[in-house]
Amino acid sequence: AMAPFSTAAAAAAAWLSNGPASTPPRVRLLIGGEFVESRADEHVDVTNPATQEVVSRIPLTTADEFRAAVDAARSAFPGWRNTPVTTRQRVMFKFQELIRANMDKLAENITTEQGKTLKDAWGDVFRGLEVVEHACGMGTLQMGEYVSNVSNGIDTFSIREPLGVCAGICPFNFPAMIPLWMFPIAVTCGNTFVLKPSEKDPGAAMMLAELAMEAGLPKGVLNIVHGTNDVVNNICDDEDIKAVSFVGSNTAGMHIYSRASAAGKRVQCNMGAKNHAIILPDADRDATLNALIAAGFGAAGQRCMALSTAVFVGGSESWEDELVKRASGLVVNSGMINDADLGPVISRQAKDRICKLVQSGVDNGARILLDGRDIVVPHFEDGNFVGPTILADVTSDLECYKEEIFGPVLLLMKAESLDDAIQIINRNKYGNGASIFTTSGVSARKFQTDIEAGQVGINVPIPVPLPFFSFTGSKASFAGDLNFYGKAGVQFFTQIKTITQQWKESPAQRVSLSMPTSQ
Ligand code: NAD
Repeated sequence: AMAPFSTAAAAAAAWLSNGPASTPPRVRLLIGGEFVESRADEHVDVTNPATQEVVSRIPLTTADEFRAAVDAARSAFPGWRNTPVTTRQRVMFKFQELIRANMDKLAENITTEQGKTLKDAWGDVFRGLEVVEHACGMGTLQMGEYVSNVSNGIDTFSIREPLGVCAGICPFNFPAMIPLWMFPIAVTCGNTFVLKPSEKDPGAAMMLAELAMEAGLPKGVLNIVHGTNDVVNNICDDEDIKAVSFVGSNTAGMHIYSRASAAGKRVQCNMGAKNHAIILPDADRDATLNALIAAGFGAAGQRCMALSTAVFVGGSESWEDELVKRASGLVVNSGMINDADLGPVISRQAKDRICKLVQSGVDNGARILLDGRDIVVPHFEDGNFVGPTILADVTSDLECYKEEIFGPVLLLMKAESLDDAIQIINRNKYGNGASIFTTSGVSARKFQTDIEAGQVGINVPIPVPLPFFSFTGSKASFAGDLNFYGKAGVQFFTQIKTITQQWKESPAQRVSLSMPTSQ
């Protein structure tokens, strides 16, 4: 019989300690450049969702350890802030190279702790890698502005300065990409950072931190604490932390937004979603079906940009058989298995919640076309698997429509017209993303203009912008003013300062007490 956890992995990684015999390896903290074992008495197990094996456990960081992490970040700030931006960029150049060299190891850790397929895990790392590549151009991104001679002998210029200690709080669904949305931009701007990975899958963040230090990130510039609500509240309240980035659910996000803002911090919160696609009768059939299957069931629906609701103008009847056929052909298996299309969902509670929401739909008039709730995956009977599930005749009063399901469940709705479909979407509280499938430019243009969603796809199912743009969720999917990465990301992690200087041979002779105007 296999050991319930691998001590070989623990021995090899600097960020893990072997616990006493027959206890799982312990994930360490990162404080001041050292991976240290927490003295906490309380832990949370990290569980492989395909097998229920305990992979490792994270400590609930103590108040003293949290203080030490923030202090390390605070002490590292003056030196790092004064390090030339070219040197900071070079760390990112080396970091991106090391991430590339370790893609397979990172992906394997993500599949083990999070469950998604290896190929999908590889994409999780790759989309984060692109943010690191973007940070390599920070000299230009952080550049200020200059206007010469705004008044006689007077010039004004602006510079963007780092804030100090910043913090990031991560969700479970993208264990590599989301930490990489946060700290590479923050630290390349000259800030230091305290990261709190998801307690469900901290491994990728730990591996990335190890690589960042190998790339030359000085001690204390990046620190990692673990835990749940208490450590998050410490982050919100701490006077030395100037900005907080959060990605996760609305419940946690709105709590963090109000608590950290009340303490005077900048906050950016990317939160939940209910992303719709409108399908017009003139859409390209094959491409549209593939897009709905990929974006509805990919990552077992656990993406904030998952397309969970398809609104068919003129009704879904003519699409249903083909959707069911293609969805039934997907392979549900452990993400480690080569041909798996979707892996398990993160936990038993997540599975129960998904199944309950589906049942409430069925009980209230939705027609179930494909039911994946009772799936059993051979060799992985204990896994939290949910097979592709499709509900038709869904209406906007149903619980399964109002809640973010975050599982492999596609809802089909009908609308009388494009206007009617747009109205349905605009009435939804979330505004992360919305797509349209059509061959009519006129309809597409109407959609892009009238739709109230932050990220719009036209014949594209998951329009997550590349890092030179920002991740622009809106309405209840975002709280804050400055979005993640892109230009806004740099603005979020810097304070703008404008400087007005006068250099002239003979300054004004007479004192004037009136408001200065251009002379
Ligand atoms: P979650 O909110 O449960 O957890 C996110 C983080 O918040 C974790 O680090 C957790 O420890 C902490 N946390 C949870 N509850 C808390 C509380 N009451 N007080 C303080 N801290 C708390 O989210 P999750 O389940 O890990 O992630 C899934 C959610 O994230 C979905 O809603 C998904 O749409 C969203 N998400 C959004 C985006 C986006 O960019 N908009 C991206 C990925 C995920």
